[in-house]
Amino acid sequence: MKFNPAEQLEKNPAFGQFRGVNPSISDSATYTFKTAQEMMDTFEGKSEGLFLYTRHTSPSNMYLANALAAMEGTEAANVMGSGMGAISTTILQICEAGDHIVSSRTIYGGSYAIMKNYLPKLNIQTSFVDVTSCAKIEAAIQPNTKMIYVEAMSNPLLEIANIPELAKIAKRHNVLLVVDNTFSPLIMSPIKMGADIVVHSLTKFINGMNDAVGGVVCASEEFITASKSVMDGAAMLIGSTMDSLRSASILKNTHTLAIRMKKHSENALYISQKLENDGARIVYPGLASHKNHELFKEMYNEEFGFGGMITIDALTIEKADKFMELMQIRGFGDLAVSLGFYRTLFNAPGSGTSSEVPEDEQQEMGLSAGLVRFSMGLDHNIENTYQGIKQCMIEVGILESVTV
Ligand SMILES: *Cc1c(COP(=O)(O)O)cnc(C)c1O
Repeated sequence: MKFNPAEQLEKNPAFGQFRGVNPSISDSATYTFKTAQEMMDTFEGKSEGLFLYTRHTSPSNMYLANALAAMEGTEAANVMGSGMGAISTTILQICEAGDHIVSSRTIYGGSYAIMKNYLPKLNIQTSFVDVTSCAKIEAAIQPNTKMIYVEAMSNPLLEIANIPELAKIAKRHNVLLVVDNTFSPLIMSPIKMGADIVVHSLTKFINGMNDAVGGVVCASEEFITASKSVMDGAAMLIGSTMDSLRSASILKNTHTLAIRMKKHSENALYISQKLENDGARIVYPGLASHKNHELFKEMYNEEFGFGGMITIDALTIEKADKFMELMQIRGFGDLAVSLGFYRTLFNAPGSGTSSEVPEDEQQEMGLSAGLVRFSMGLDHNIENTYQGIKQCMIEVGILESVTV
């Protein structure tokens, strides 16, 4: 039977101490031991079911980590204080001075900035490559390369990584394939396609409420245990710990992730089909016009659709700004960075979330200045939203009114 990430999320729910339907929250930073020996064993990672200190693990963090490991089909997971906490510690767990990374060039601005600007200080270099060309990715691998880093669906251009092909390349060169699956939880199951490690920003779709920041690393037991080592584990020592109260609240939201993803996808497909028909310059993986549409269909868990992210080219930054301000005034969404929220969010990534990418590189990768990125909300009346967005586009001069 085909792996279903939503069914995995539902399996083995944890109950509370007094038969609560939700697991009890561990409101403690540290934990007691009956004997000194027990403490020693826990320190050395030799005891099962005992907790040492929350930066290492807490029961609440463990419940959320177990749920997300099940969702991605990995042996283990570790939840972190932010998506960047998950990404930076994963890189530092894998790479040391003198090592090299091959990364997609169209990735989240923060991920790009740490590889481009920060890691060179530690003598870790990165080659940024067009993710849609497996040949270019393979050609960029050097003897000191330790990982290939891609986003399953890339930010902000919505390019799709060919995960099965990249996994083969990674195996051939004995490097790890790390996939950021933040844009496509449930839709893509990268581990099942051969990836080694999946990272997420929980801040986005997985939590979905925009009330928390968080991240997760889903990987083998061996990798997660090593990253939590009190002696030399990157996660343990860099200390990007998730707060237990937050873990408990995010865990509850994972139970609506499947229905939310379906609705995000349904709304995004509706809007993009209609607006494309009207003549808008729109990018959405669910459209046959998307350059990776067929590849997406080969890889996705179909019932969750093509995701909630859309980009519309408003031609110039001036028009993009007016367009977004008008939509906000009329209540069709919020001018804000981030994504995966129940309301629609939009921003112009050229000047916003991808401003870490230099302008000439933005042009080269096709990131036009007037690009508006949408994270479609869970709007109940999507036809009304479509009509409203279209009207804003006409008024700002992005769409010809003759096509109405
Ligand atoms: C937001 C985001 C991140 C960073 O996550 P934070 O929780 O903000 O630290 C990483 N990757 C992608 C694709 C993102 O959208």
